[in-house]
Amino acid sequence: MHQITNSDLLTFMVSKQEPALAVNNPATGELLGYAPILQHQQIEAAVERAHQAQQAWAKLPAKSRSQLLNKWYHLLLDNQDDLARLMTLEQGKPLAEAKGEVLYGASFVEWFAEEGKRTYGESIPAPSGDKRIVTIKQPVGVASAITPWNFPIAMITRKAAPALAAGCSFIVKPAELTPLSAFAVAELAYQAGIPRDVLQVVLGEDAAQVGAIFTSHPLIRKLSFTGSTRVGRILMEQSAHDIKRTSMELGGNAPFIVFDDADIDAAVQGAIASKFRNAGQTCVCANRFYVHSSVYDEFIEKFAAQVEQLNVGNGLEEGVNVGPVISQTARDNILALVERALEQGAEVATKRIEHDGLFVAPVVLKNVCHDMEIVSQEIFGPVAPVIAFDSDEQLIEMANDTIYGLASYFYSQNIARVWNVAEALEYGMVGINEGIISTEVAPFGGVKQSGIGREGAKQGIDEYMNIKYLCFGGL
Ligand code: ADP
Repeated sequence: MHQITNSDLLTFMVSKQEPALAVNNPATGELLGYAPILQHQQIEAAVERAHQAQQAWAKLPAKSRSQLLNKWYHLLLDNQDDLARLMTLEQGKPLAEAKGEVLYGASFVEWFAEEGKRTYGESIPAPSGDKRIVTIKQPVGVASAITPWNFPIAMITRKAAPALAAGCSFIVKPAELTPLSAFAVAELAYQAGIPRDVLQVVLGEDAAQVGAIFTSHPLIRKLSFTGSTRVGRILMEQSAHDIKRTSMELGGNAPFIVFDDADIDAAVQGAIASKFRNAGQTCVCANRFYVHSSVYDEFIEKFAAQVEQLNVGNGLEEGVNVGPVISQTARDNILALVERALEQGAEVATKRIEHDGLFVAPVVLKNVCHDMEIVSQEIFGPVAPVIAFDSDEQLIEMANDTIYGLASYFYSQNIARVWNVAEALEYGMVGINEGIISTEVAPFGGVKQSGIGREGAKQGIDEYMNIKYLCFGGL
């Protein structure tokens, strides 16, 4: 095992004699280290400690919590190189992208350090003269979270920062494939002075066991989940029994639309950014491309030429744009979708269609039809199927023909069309002449089976607060 970081971020790592989870590098298969695993009773004890700690944490003035979050933010920045390297090692994304994610993840801590000071209530004109009505916002209590492997840091800070700023304590189960980044960001929070019981990272013997505790423990008042729609559905079903409050950031099937009046070169740039980030493994990655038939050939030619320039390899190496996919199962799913699309009549527009271990070469597919499986499934890999369309009406129908409603993108220079299409798309987020839309200042979230709730922005902290209405009578 070689040295992973230069700092003391990895003090939590355990030896394999203890109950531990092995973490491997997807680019090389090498063992990186072991993360601690807790037994059922230990997780319940962690929840009880989180409950105790929350009482004192909520009593701190918002400004004091804000100052601690700010220290955490600066420590994340100070350690960005080590965090990025650790992320690339366990997740595979190119180092430049990993650095981008550390900054993106840290931006939520900075943002909610500020927002925590502005959780205002209201004064409401009462219906009779002898009454006064006001509202206050209070933290929900212990908030729990389950997060995925594709953004090992940002999906945690995007939940932890608003929870802590609101006065909740927070307990997260990170993805088993990328727990080291989670423990490392928590370590920095402790260095910043955030109490250990207020922010806890736990891994259990298996994910379902922890999910069962988070959805049934009476002291846990909230579950925020990011992951697949399949698992989100299970967690919502489990949460139903105790009417546990949930936020869900689930799967997507983002359409990327290019109209005949689009700036084609800009659309190609946006398509590359939106499709191939994280090797296509994000829930907002463009999943299917719809291009007007009058510009179809031009778009395909320019897009394929750029895609052929992308370098696939170990994310630690200079100049690599696309790292490995996360697992063999992920790779097999991607390749099977491509295989079936080709059988159904799609054609490869790029020169390469190959893979080596977990490295999958980016592919553009042309002559794709809207009813192919590759269009309705979330690909989660570096494959871009491109469909031709003729009318706006047909296009909107195809774009909305999915159970998902997370991100969507379109390119057009026509102002009337821009408004009409933006309003007609049944999605929580629309990129207009823009392929990268995630930012801490805007509300991230989906409609339909892509989820419930919003993260980031001024709305993000409301997910961790209850509104209480106070009615003063007899005045
Ligand atoms: P992905 O396809 O991104 O891996 P998943 O929904 O499978 O998405 O995983 C996201 C997170 O959900 C991970 O932390 C994983 O361990 C967790 N998870 C998977 N199955 C369950 C389950 N039955 N209950 C609770 N958490 C689960």
